[in-house]
Amino acid sequence: MIKSSFIAAPVAAALLAAFSAPALAAGEAKNVIFFLGDGMGPTTVTAARIYKYKEEGSLNFEKLERTARIKTFSNDAQTTDSAPSMAAYMTGVKMNNEVLSMSSDTKAVAPGKDANGNLGVNNCAATNGKPVATMLELAKAKGKAVGAVTTTELTHATPAATYSHICHRDAQYAIAAQAVPGGAGYNTGLGDGVDVLMGGGRNHFTPYDAVSNPRGRADGRNLLSEMASAGYSVAASKTDMAAAPNNRKFIGLYSSKSHLEYELDRTATPPLGEGASQPSLSEMTSKAIDILSQNPNGYFLMVEGGRIDHALHATNAKRALVDTIAFDDAVQTAIDKVKKTDPTLSNTLIVVTADHDHTMTFNGYGKRGNPILDINRGYRDGAPSKDADGNAYTTLVFGNGPNRPDVRASLDSATVMADSYLQESGVRLASETHGGGDVKLLATGAGAAPFKGTLDNTKVFGLLKSAFGF
Ligand SMILES: [Zn+2]
Repeated sequence: MIKSSFIAAPVAAALLAAFSAPALAAGEAKNVIFFLGDGMGPTTVTAARIYKYKEEGSLNFEKLERTARIKTFSNDAQTTDSAPSMAAYMTGVKMNNEVLSMSSDTKAVAPGKDANGNLGVNNCAATNGKPVATMLELAKAKGKAVGAVTTTELTHATPAATYSHICHRDAQYAIAAQAVPGGAGYNTGLGDGVDVLMGGGRNHFTPYDAVSNPRGRADGRNLLSEMASAGYSVAASKTDMAAAPNNRKFIGLYSSKSHLEYELDRTATPPLGEGASQPSLSEMTSKAIDILSQNPNGYFLMVEGGRIDHALHATNAKRALVDTIAFDDAVQTAIDKVKKTDPTLSNTLIVVTADHDHTMTFNGYGKRGNPILDINRGYRDGAPSKDADGNAYTTLVFGNGPNRPDVRASLDSATVMADSYLQESGVRLASETHGGGDVKLLATGAGAAPFKGTLDNTKVFGLLKSAFGF
């Protein structure tokens, strides 16, 4: 468990320094909304565009006027995981894979198993690196409201990088404790607490029970009760979320045991799993803005489409594309909502990017209009394109992943268009890896102009900071 004094000193110093920054000048952003499509590399963006809007169309976020390419390498790896890549955006510091919002010298040390077999033993020594202040903490210290919204577990790497400091992303029970104002292990850099928190993984916040909560906390704490005592509305469903007042802090955890459902499963008839009661990313984003915009000093909101990454790890392109569309819809929801009070976005910066690429690639010379998930059909005659052995193949395949046949067989539309079809891959791996290529960034609104060219991911933090006038 992290002691609060371990967090407090360095972060407090950084926050004190931030307090002395000049007051907000004209043209600077009062509000920043930072959208992160986890694993949403350039090929995923193109494929999602074609899937929903055809070749000539565009996603909503592709209409934003400022663009940049982002280098994503971490301190110790060519190919990053989501912990240091999101932490680079949130802190401006390059750190090692698996590390969340800590100094570059922090070594990743995996948590150990507790008595219930869960990763409940935090092995991060107090001497292993130092916390570095996050954009969310800096905004909070300026009196702004702050929020983090995701479709993954709330303690997953991307959201955790905004509100916690730890040497390993898998120490999710300790990460959860960092969000509880006044509780043991609280991250005091968060002041009186994050104003809006939404995602899945309620188990990391509630006590272990062999039957009802086998992945629950071994320390017996109920962090949601503690947060309710600290003034939070606590929601477990879309209905709870709608009923919660906009003038109180809010935590909504919409899955008892894991991530939220993929959008494809949330909207299926009947919905699978807990999907029926879960809000969409657009609905969560809208509610978050309703709450955060009550603060006259403005807000910082992070919104993650977190399961794009999970579908790509499975090489299930369809769920990745449908989740990308849901993410893109959330961007438009935010823009439409903000424009009601800030019609030219003169007070609000909106940034959309990804933390890293995947190995999905776009093959062949497919005919314009051929469904992107289908077998490739050639542009000359519309006939199935064939490999060197005469077998049809799909337009989208992966560099590595679980579906690597020893001998390829010909594929047909019925097979490859199924919801759960796993695209073929070049190298056989149980789970597909991230890719090391650059990702896109798009921006609009106050302070968006400097987002251009090829930027290191750590530079994005500086641009967010200067947009805010910090
Ligand atoms: Zn991933």
